[in-house]
Parts: sequence; C-alpha cells; structure tokens
Amino acid sequence: MSLLEECFLDCPYCGESISVLVDCSCEEQTYIEDCQVCCRPMVLHVNVDEQGYPAVYAQGEDE
Ligand SMILES: [Zn+2]
Repeated sequence: MSLLEECFLDCPYCGESISVLVDCSCEEQTYIEDCQVCCRPMVLHVNVDEQGYPAVYAQGEDE
C-alpha cells in the first residue's frame, strides 16, 4: 500500500468535491491546503487508522 493516499472531500467554502494526497506515514496531522476550485485556504485534519486508511475532515480557516 502506498503511503500517499488520494482522499476526496468537499470544500467548506464552495462545496465542490476535491481530492488531496494524504501522507499516511503520519498518524495524525493538520495542515492548510488551498482549494483547487476556489483557491481559498482550508484546514485539513487527517487521522490514519490502524489499517492505514486516512479520514480527512476539512474546515474553513475562519471557523
Ligand atoms: Zn473551494
């Protein structure tokens, strides 16, 4: 299994579905990524479970 997994989520600003590459070698991480559609910065919270599957949650920067 690759350490980089593609995850899909909805942008908290424009609601478009976008994909991000998540580094599964790190169990828990938070970082900022710009939306590919509206280019606004969103905060991504990533949690990788014991099987190595990432769960991604996106939040607006001002929330
Ligand atoms: Zn957006």
